[in-house]
Amino acid sequence: MTLRQGKEFLMIPGPTNVPDEVLRAMHRPAIDIYDGPLVETTEQCLAGLKKLFRTQHQLYIYAANGHGAWDAALSNTLSEGDRVLVLESGLFATEWGKAAKVMGLDVQLLPGDWHTPVDPNALEKALKEDIGHRIKAILVVQVDTATGVWNDIRRLRTAIDAAAHPALFMVDTIASLGCMPFEMDAWGVDLALTGSQKGLMTPPGLSFVAVGPKAKATHATANLRSNYMDWTFRDGPVHYQKYCGTPPEHLLFAFKAALDLIFAEGLENVWHRHALLAEATRRAVEIWSSAGSMDMMVPNKTARSNSVTVVTTNGWEAEKLRTFTREQCGVTIGGTIGDYAGRGFRIGHMGHVNAVMLLGTLSAIETGFIKLGIAHGKGGVNAAMEYLAQSI
Ligand SMILES: *Cc1c(COP(=O)(O)O)cnc(C)c1O
Repeated sequence: MTLRQGKEFLMIPGPTNVPDEVLRAMHRPAIDIYDGPLVETTEQCLAGLKKLFRTQHQLYIYAANGHGAWDAALSNTLSEGDRVLVLESGLFATEWGKAAKVMGLDVQLLPGDWHTPVDPNALEKALKEDIGHRIKAILVVQVDTATGVWNDIRRLRTAIDAAAHPALFMVDTIASLGCMPFEMDAWGVDLALTGSQKGLMTPPGLSFVAVGPKAKATHATANLRSNYMDWTFRDGPVHYQKYCGTPPEHLLFAFKAALDLIFAEGLENVWHRHALLAEATRRAVEIWSSAGSMDMMVPNKTARSNSVTVVTTNGWEAEKLRTFTREQCGVTIGGTIGDYAGRGFRIGHMGHVNAVMLLGTLSAIETGFIKLGIAHGKGGVNAAMEYLAQSI
C-alpha cells in the first residue's frame, strides 16, 4: 500500500514540472519549416528570450541541452590554446571548464568550495596577475545547482572592471533564468546562456545563447567554430539556418507557451514567487536542522539561490528519505551529486511551482523524518506556512 496515487510532483533542480498548457502546445502535427507559423514562433521565442535575459542583443537557439550551449559559447568566440578562467562555486562552472579543456582551451581555475560564492576580490587579484591578458574568457554560473550557491554577477563584473581586464564575461544562467533577477546588458555580461528545462518549464532539449557585441566581435577570428554551432551560418537569410537544419518544432511550440505563462504572470512576479517559496523552504530547513542531523550546504544567507535548496545530512542516508517521499508520497526530490553524492538532498523549487506543491513537498519530507526516525527539529513545515502567511 502507498499514498502515492494522485498528481505527482517533480521537485528536483531540473528537469522541472511542465505545465499542462506547455504539454498541450506540443500536441499538434509538424509544419513547414520555411515560412508561416513556424517563422512566427521563432520570432516570438527570440523576442521573449530578449525579455528574459534583459538584453537588446542577439539570441541563438540550439536543439541541445545546456552542455550544447556551453560548447556553442566557447566554440564561437575562442581559438585553440586561448586561456579561460573558471570560477568555482560547486560543480557546474568546473564542468564547463572540462568542456573547454576537451576543445583545446587552456583552463585556469579560480578555486572555490561547495559552500561559498565566488569571491570578487580573489577574481580581481587573479585578473590583475594576468599582466599579458592571456585570459580570454571568464566562466561562471549564476546559480550552482549542485550546491545552491548564488553568485552576485553584478559584483563580479565590478571586480573585472576594477582589474581593467578585457576578457569576455560568460554567465551560465541555466538554473536561474526566470527564477532570479538577471540583467545581461545592465550588468555588463558579454555572453549568457540557459536551457529550457529548469526555470523555463519546458521539456529538455532546447538551449539559448545570448551574445553581446564584444563576444560577437571575437567570433570573426575564433578558430574553434564548428558547423552546427556556428553563428555565421545561423545568421543566414533562410529560416532553417537559424537551427542549422530542421527546427525542433514541438519544443519551440512548448517554449512559446511557457513564455506566454511567464509574461502573463509578469517576470518580476515570477522572481518574487520564487523568492517567497525559497525562503519558506529555508525556514523549514532551519528548524529541521536544529537537531544537528542536517545542515544547509550554503551557510551564508545572502549567497543562497531561490531556485534550489541543498541540504547536507550528518551520518544518515539521504537516499532513504528520497525513496520514502517518492514511493510513499508521490514527490521526487533531488539527491546530492559530485563529492556529496548520497550525503544530502536537494529541493528544486524552480519553474512551475506553487505554494501547494512546495508545502506538500516539505510536508512529505517532514513525514519521512518521522517515519524513518531521523532526528529533526519539530515544526519545519509550520515555519514555512507562517512565513508564507506573513509574506503574501
Ligand atoms: C542543469 C545545469 C547544467 C547542465 O545542463 P544540461 O541541460 O543537463 O546539459 C549546466 N549548468 C547549470 C547551472 C545547470 O543547472
